[in-house]
Amino acid sequence: LAERLQSTIKKITGKGKVSEQDIKEMSREIRLALLEADVNFKVVKDLINRIKERAVGQEVMESLTPGQQVIKIVRDELTELMGGENSKIAVADRPPTVIMMVGLQGAGKTTTTGKLANLLRKKHNRKPLLVACDVYRPAAIQQLETLGTQLNMPVFSLGTEANPVDIAKQAMDKAKEEHHDYVIIDTAGRLHVDSDLMNELAEIKAAVSPDEIFLVVDAMTGQDAVNVAESFNEQLDITGVVLTKLDGDTRGGAALSIKAVTDKPIKFAGMGEKLDQLEAFHPERMASRILGMGDVLSLIEKAQTNVDEQQAKALEEKMRSMSFTFDDFLEQMAQVKQMGPLDELLDMLPGAGKMKGLKNVQVDEKQLGQVEAIVKSMTKQERQEPSIINASRKKRIAKGSGTTVSQVNRLLKQFEDMKKMMKQMTNMQKGKGKKGRGG
Ligand code: GDP
Ligand code: MG
Repeated sequence: LAERLQSTIKKITGKGKVSEQDIKEMSREIRLALLEADVNFKVVKDLINRIKERAVGQEVMESLTPGQQVIKIVRDELTELMGGENSKIAVADRPPTVIMMVGLQGAGKTTTTGKLANLLRKKHNRKPLLVACDVYRPAAIQQLETLGTQLNMPVFSLGTEANPVDIAKQAMDKAKEEHHDYVIIDTAGRLHVDSDLMNELAEIKAAVSPDEIFLVVDAMTGQDAVNVAESFNEQLDITGVVLTKLDGDTRGGAALSIKAVTDKPIKFAGMGEKLDQLEAFHPERMASRILGMGDVLSLIEKAQTNVDEQQAKALEEKMRSMSFTFDDFLEQMAQVKQMGPLDELLDMLPGAGKMKGLKNVQVDEKQLGQVEAIVKSMTKQERQEPSIINASRKKRIAKGSGTTVSQVNRLLKQFEDMKKMMKQMTNMQKGKGKKGRGG
């Protein structure tokens, strides 16, 4: 999706004048791109009509930057299509609040159960009880129990012989007894939607009256995800959707259609297998990402949760002024390590896919120790002005840090790459600023 759109977008962004012909051409490209991305046909048609209507209107023609104005309209419309931002989780009048996780096999229900529990505790200071209702695969219970151990949270299970409805009911009793404020029920899935599964889920629903029914769908499955969402919603009246595996090479189309088809919000996005890789779903960012504008906001937010805000600001200043030194680099590496794999961060950068050189900037634990040693063997002046590091200085640094000259060289190269990346990032942010972050 991104590639096709990006070239169209590029063409139109810089235009000082946008003709009706331009808009027609762009609409066609957007239509094709969306269809290619598995977006529902009717959804596409309505969307294109709205975009066309707005784009040929005065709003654009009278604007100083009509090209950018058109892009803004497209982004707004895509955002609108995905609904407002909404990652609230219900709170029952009388605890416990019950969340039921449903979805096909492999969608990520069990993983997301763990992630949600983690989020509820971390962000909202809640004490959830996890419930293992997938009795069809012995490994499923085990999987949840493992997550429970990792999280140090209780998991309620009655083994594989018990009836899922009974398990859910008994779990409720236990939750009340032990004063858990949340109960998260992990249920079984099937490879396809079938009536046995739906009946079982409906029975559990009737037995525990959940406050939330979250449908977990795999973003990688494209249009299938939309069909799945439609049938689950029809039969269970879900309250929200969690879109998983958005970290993968997804085309994003599912996100665009799900809301339109079910009229239920996508509340969370799964961004990886780890327990802290669940984020609020941000329609605007998703739209920007689909349009290839990257996800600078997500990136910054991610940095902010790990980096103290002031530090982040100081860093941003440094990026701007380019007075970024090896000391900052060291600090940055340590933070990047906290943030998670760099690849994932890179994916969020605008156009990062194209910055191939960046793949050289790799961070692993072992390397980080070496990097630290190398930087610490540099003099103050060398850290601030790496260009003065000549062959003899390199030798001295290598010796001092217990590394080799080629390792020192590699680090110098990485440092340059990182600097370049920051420069690109800053430029792009500036460009974005000019467009006006109005919507
Ligand atoms: P379930 O059958 O619906 O319970 O699915 P699981 O929770 O067992 O997940 C199936 C697989 O998907 C596991 O290997 C998970 O680690 C993986 N998974 C779940 N969510 C995500 C995600 O957001 N990103 C990635 N990359 N993998 C995920
Ligand atoms: Mg499971």
